[in-house]
Amino acid sequence: MSDTQRESITAGRHARITLRVDRVRCSAHGICAQVLAGKVTLDEWGYPVLVDPHLDEEEFRTASTLCPALALYRD
Ligand code: SF4
Repeated sequence: MSDTQRESITAGRHARITLRVDRVRCSAHGICAQVLAGKVTLDEWGYPVLVDPHLDEEEFRTASTLCPALALYRD
């Protein structure tokens, strides 16, 4: 494997994903704010506020898997 291929694979793993919330599906469980502390906070009704929506693949996978309403998606 060449250095270029290796760098490409590494870059893919750390690709930046823009997190989005389906506000119709979201039911204010607040798990995303716990999993993505510092990137997601909750408003006064418990709905997510995206402070920094840029995630890596692993952050996105974890949060989207744990969201009970399946309300997290990516651009
Ligand atoms: S975990 Fe899902 S349902 Fe709960 S607040 Fe976050 S997006 Fe909404």
